[in-house]
Amino acid sequence: MKLGLSGKVALVAAASRGLGKAVALELSREGATVAICARHADNIAAAAEDIRGDTGGDVAGFAADVTDGAQVRKLVDDVHSRFGAIDILIPNAGGPAGGTISDFKPDDYRAAVDLNLMSTINLCYAVLPDMRTKHWGRIVAITSVSSRQPLDQLVLSNTARAGVLGFIKSLSNHVAAEGITANAVCPGYTKTERIKELATMYAESGKGTVEDYYSRVEVDVPMKRMGTVEEFAAVVTFLASERASYVTGVALPIDGGWIKSLY
Ligand code: NAP
Repeated sequence: MKLGLSGKVALVAAASRGLGKAVALELSREGATVAICARHADNIAAAAEDIRGDTGGDVAGFAADVTDGAQVRKLVDDVHSRFGAIDILIPNAGGPAGGTISDFKPDDYRAAVDLNLMSTINLCYAVLPDMRTKHWGRIVAITSVSSRQPLDQLVLSNTARAGVLGFIKSLSNHVAAEGITANAVCPGYTKTERIKELATMYAESGKGTVEDYYSRVEVDVPMKRMGTVEEFAAVVTFLASERASYVTGVALPIDGGWIKSLY
C-alpha cells in the first residue's frame, strides 16, 4: 500500500522519545518532512538527529512546552517558516501524575487539563486555518486507554483525556466535509522509556523485580504482552496518511485487546 505521505509536512508534539518519537520516525520513513517538539532543547535536537540518521529525511527539532498556548502558537509559526505548511498534526504530551481522587486537589485537575486537553485544543486551533485553506489535513491525537476505560490509579488522566475524545469527535464533524480527518488513538501498555522507568521504580521500592512489574501489567492484556512503539507508530502513520481518508472521529485503541467494552 502506498501511503501517500511523501511531501507532506508533519508536526509531532512531545517527541524527543517514546510514542511521539516512534511516530515521527515512521512518518519520516514514509517520506514525510517532520517537525518534532519537546521541552528540553538538547533532547529534541538529539532526537531529530537520530531520525535524520535513520531515514535521511528532513527533520527539525523545536523546544516548546505544549502546556503554554503562546509557545504552541510560536511553534506552529516556526514550523510554517521552516517548512511552509503543516499537513499532519500529532497532538501529544507527557502523562499526568498517577493517583486516586483522595490523592489530588481540584487545582491538580486544572494542571492535567492544561497538559493533555488544552495542549491538544491549542495545537489544533493553530494548525486548522492552513489545513482548511488547503482542503487537506490529518490530526491524530495521542491519548490513552484511560480515556475509554478509566483506570483506578489514573484519575487525572481519566478526566483530562475523556475531554480530548469529546473535542476530537466534535472537531472531526466540524471539518469532515473539508478533506480534514481528526482521530484519537488510545495506547495501552507500550514499552517506552517511561514504562521502563516505572518498572525500575517498582523494583527499587522493593515490591518486586522489573519482570514482576511487566508481568502484573501483562496479565490483563489478552495478548499477554506489552505493545512495541513500532506497532503503535504503524497505526498512527496509517491514520495520518492519504489512505485513511474515510476514517474520522474514531478513538482507536492500540492495546492488544486490553479495553473490555464492545465500543
Ligand atoms: P515518555 O516516554 O515519558 O515521553 C514523553 C515525551 O513528551 C518526551 O519527549 C517529553 O520530552 C515530552 N513532553 C512531556 N511533557 C511535555 C510538554 N509539556 N511539552 C512538550 N513536550 C513534552 O512518554 P510516552 O510513554 O511516550 O507516552 C506519551 C503519552 O502517551 C503520555 O501522555 C503517556 O501518558 C501516554 N500513554 C503512554 C502509554 C505507554 O504505555 N507508554 C500508555 C498510555 C498512554 P521533554 O521532557 O523534554 O518535554
